[in-house]
Amino acid sequence: MNDASKSFLKSAYKEYYFRGADQIEFPDEVESREFGYFPFGGGMVRHLSFKSRGEALAEILKQSPSSVYCSNARYEYPARPIEEKGWLGAELIFDIDATDIQTTCKKGHDLWYCEKCHASGKLPRPVRCTKCAGSTVEFHGKCEICLDAAKDHAMRVIRFLTEDFGVDRGAIRLYFSGNRGYHLHVFDRRFDPLNPQARGEIAEYVRGSSLPLVQSIASTLRHRPPSGPQGVGWTRRITGYVDERRQDYPGTLQKLVSEAISSQRAMVDSSVTTDIHRVFRLSGTLHGDTGMMKRRIESAGSFDPQEDPVVLSEKPVKVAVEFYPKFRMKHKDFGPFLRPETVELPTFAAVPILTRGLGEVAV
Ligand SMILES: [Zn+2]
Ligand SMILES: [Zn+2]
Repeated sequence: MNDASKSFLKSAYKEYYFRGADQIEFPDEVESREFGYFPFGGGMVRHLSFKSRGEALAEILKQSPSSVYCSNARYEYPARPIEEKGWLGAELIFDIDATDIQTTCKKGHDLWYCEKCHASGKLPRPVRCTKCAGSTVEFHGKCEICLDAAKDHAMRVIRFLTEDFGVDRGAIRLYFSGNRGYHLHVFDRRFDPLNPQARGEIAEYVRGSSLPLVQSIASTLRHRPPSGPQGVGWTRRITGYVDERRQDYPGTLQKLVSEAISSQRAMVDSSVTTDIHRVFRLSGTLHGDTGMMKRRIESAGSFDPQEDPVVLSEKPVKVAVEFYPKFRMKHKDFGPFLRPETVELPTFAAVPILTRGLGEVAV
């Protein structure tokens, strides 16, 4: 990234932070949280702590970084190294990414490209470019289908928490991640003291990966008269689903059971839920790769992930693009840019190209 691109990105983000400062949502007990950030073109700065929201906000405005993070954990000494921080508890968190959910749209927008000659093709990615033997990288796009699937899985997590764990709906906050996923933060003190193993069990439970084999569930159900949902948790979910459809179902009972599981499981990233020392993007701040805002969602039904989190300006900028696949923001298509060209783009659409190093601000 050249200096012109770096200073363009910094000023675009700064412009948003001055305008959108009141969108930034700080957690309770700010003074016990660890903060961190990525400056544009630099390494991560971690183990920061602030005495108040005002102090944290002043630093964000001053740095206008590429990414801002805050811990879900509370610490006695948040600025010390991890082993000396004095962990006091952490909110339970779930992360759902469209990349982890199988959808048919992926063939249309996921690809590999060569870092050297920018040849590209469908996944799976060859280790070496088929044209020049240069090194290749994967590019994951997104569309309404996979973003909707991710939102659906986030809603499934909410159902698990409210129905199976007795969490109050008001204690669960849903956020768009700023890229292609959703985060859920659970403000229910019962979970705060849990260690990574216990958090892992909850993640495995919602993923449905701790269930017995489908064959053995089916054989248990085979000799039981359909009598509607029974038991609690997954048992209730599976018996309810199966009994409602069993009569007219054209396939095997085993197939129906696996459908009952796949239509209710939530593909959360377990490694995020179990990490009790992690820092998460702060709500109301911008994603470092996309320039889109991590945004709290009040009403999932009306939230539009292609429109609502796009908060950077429309101000046009000339970008010398090397290569960039087709993408969609604010319901407009951009690209594909398959060979080097200089194009004028609105700031919000220039940012993902610049942050990925696939173009530079034209000077
Ligand atoms: Zn190549
Ligand atoms: Zn998609």
